[in-house]
This record gives sequence, C-alpha cells and structure tokens, in this order.
Amino acid sequence: MAKRDYYDVLGINKNANPEELKSAYRKQAIKYHPDKNPGDKTAEDKFKEASEAYSILSDKTKKENYDNFGHAAFENGGGGQSGGFGGFSGADFSDIFEDFFGDFGSGGRSRNKRSSSSRGSDLRYDLSITLEEAYLGKKQNIQFSTSEKCTTCKGNGSKPGYSPEKCGYCAGSGKVRSNQGFFTVQQTCPQCAGSGKEITNPCNDCNGQGIKQASKKITVTIPKGVDDGTRIRLADKGEAGSRGGANGDLYLFINVKSHELFKRSDENLFFEFPISIADAALGTTIEIPTIDGGKAKIKIPEGTQSGKQFRLKGKGMPYMRGSGDGDLYVQINTEVPVSLNKEQKELLEKFRQIENEKSNPSIKKFFQKARSFWKN
Ligand SMILES: [Zn+2]
Ligand SMILES: [Zn+2]
Repeated sequence: MAKRDYYDVLGINKNANPEELKSAYRKQAIKYHPDKNPGDKTAEDKFKEASEAYSILSDKTKKENYDNFGHAAFENGGGGQSGGFGGFSGADFSDIFEDFFGDFGSGGRSRNKRSSSSRGSDLRYDLSITLEEAYLGKKQNIQFSTSEKCTTCKGNGSKPGYSPEKCGYCAGSGKVRSNQGFFTVQQTCPQCAGSGKEITNPCNDCNGQGIKQASKKITVTIPKGVDDGTRIRLADKGEAGSRGGANGDLYLFINVKSHELFKRSDENLFFEFPISIADAALGTTIEIPTIDGGKAKIKIPEGTQSGKQFRLKGKGMPYMRGSGDGDLYVQINTEVPVSLNKEQKELLEKFRQIENEKSNPSIKKFFQKARSFWKN
C-alpha cells in the first residue's frame, strides 16, 4: 500500500502551526489509541500512521526534508535519517500522552487521585500589627480555613476496617508502559498516580481523600522587635496532607502599620520635635514620648540649630535576634513664629536692631565668602 501523505493523515495543510499540528495529532491519537480499541488492527495501524506523521512534522528539520523530498527523504537513510523508524525515538510525545491520559481519566480512570498520598499545601496568613505591638511582642489567636485529617479514617482514606490494596491497573508498580510497536511510553500509573495502591472502600466522610475542610484556630507568638515584611514559618500548621501525606507549613506575613509619631529604620526609631526659636536660642528641657509608652527628658542647650539630632541610647526597638534595643533619634526643628501680635513684633524689631554678627555665626561666615567672591 502506498504511503499516505503526512498532511493528509493528520488532516492539516502545510502551513499549520505547531498548535494546530499537535491538536490534529491529539485527535487522531485519542480516536485510534490501542487502549480504546483493543484488538482492532485497523485502529492500531491508523494510530501508528498518525504517530509517524506527527513525529516527522513536529521536527523542524525532518519536516523540511519531508516538504522537499516527500517520503523519499526517509528512505535509504536519506535526509540525514539513521534509517527506518529509528528516527522517531527523538520525537517528543510525552506532553501529548500526558495530555490525553488526562482525557482518558474522565472515563474509566477518574479515581486516579484516590490512592496517592500528597503533602498538604503551604498557607499564607497576613497579620497587621502596630509598632507598639512589635515593640512588646505578643501572642495572638488567628483563625483560618484549611484542611484537616479526617477523623473517621484517621487520614488513610479507607473505610474503617479496610485498608488500601495493590493498584489493579499497574499491579502495584506505580508505572505503566504502553507499547505502540515502534515506540514505548512509560509513565506514572494514571489510576494510582504512582503510589501503587488503590483505595477500594473509600471512607464516606472524606470521599477517600483522608482530609476534610475545617476552620482552624491557633495561637501564634509574635516575637519582640518583629519588622514589617517579616515572614514567620510555622512548620506543619498548613493544610493536612492527603492519605497520610505530611502537612504543609503556615507562613505568617507580618505587616507593621506606620506610626504617626515614630519612623523606624531597623532597630532604630526616629522622630522630629518642633521647638520655638526662643527655646532653641536660650536653651530648654523638653519631654518626649518613647515607644514603651513612657517619657524621656532631653536638655536642649543654648544656641541649638534646627536639624540637630539627639540620640537616646536603648530607646529604640528590641533586636528580634539577640538582645538589647536600638536607639531613638530626636531631631530638633526650630519653628519660625507666625501670626505675631503687636508686642511680639516690637520685641523682635528691637532684637533685630541689637543683633550683631556674633549672634549668627553662619550668616557671618556666608557674608565673608560672598564678599571675597565679589572682589574677585
Ligand atoms: Zn475519611
Ligand atoms: Zn497504579
């Protein structure tokens, strides 16, 4: 029998793109797959024919050779072939077979997930706390929905009194081979997903999954000094694994809300304190708030310039790892007075008249520089 044209076999034209090619092959492969047509020689031949066409047309070089020389390209070692069907081994069928074993699954093998155990998923829980809470550390109850081990079957998925049996589809090996004459595909058993076991009497309470949805409440410890963006892993507190699989983990993502007074940079805190020019010029003592809810005093010396920072050792945030606390930096900002009354204006006016260069060292320095600039 003369060989049919590969494009005719798959029912596509020469310009079909790789997706069209794959989809055309998939249709044929599913229709004529030996598993679906046991003992049908015509179907088997059609399946082989389609597979051969796909293996050539899905390979760029082989397709080019075929387009130029037709079937002759693959006879007598032409077109760089090693001869015969040897060249097919390189074609990538795996994703296609993966795909359509999935399709078969909707038929007789829908129980394919029944008997494999798997680790539970990790969960993420976002928790917002205040800076004061981050300073003190705390215990907090959190509640979330997750899956828990089924108590009826103790998580193994079988009705009480029964246990999983050897998978009948793969005889317990977890792998199946399908032999298509010129190539063999080995893959994970679609029935038991590779576990080699089958649940023949599934637990009624969990449908054989070994897990049930539940709302879980736990108490978590937020360590002192926790920073915004800190991720805390709570091993084993995630979703329950199915059929005896390990639990996933729970990840707490900490968000520390911004504070209206304090700014934070790692373990140090910072804030700005406004004082009047009279206080800055004459000196004073100020009382400032601290993150522990208390107060601290700072002596502002005579002639303090705006922007000057004072450091209070140990008044910052605790180190999350290790001991001790960071520092608190207080920046003094002098405020120029506004909305002056008549008396204030008169006094300031008088002050301006008696003010001299010595009272303003920065201004004096500036004018020295300016004068020498003008001379040059
Ligand atoms: Zn159960
Ligand atoms: Zn199996």
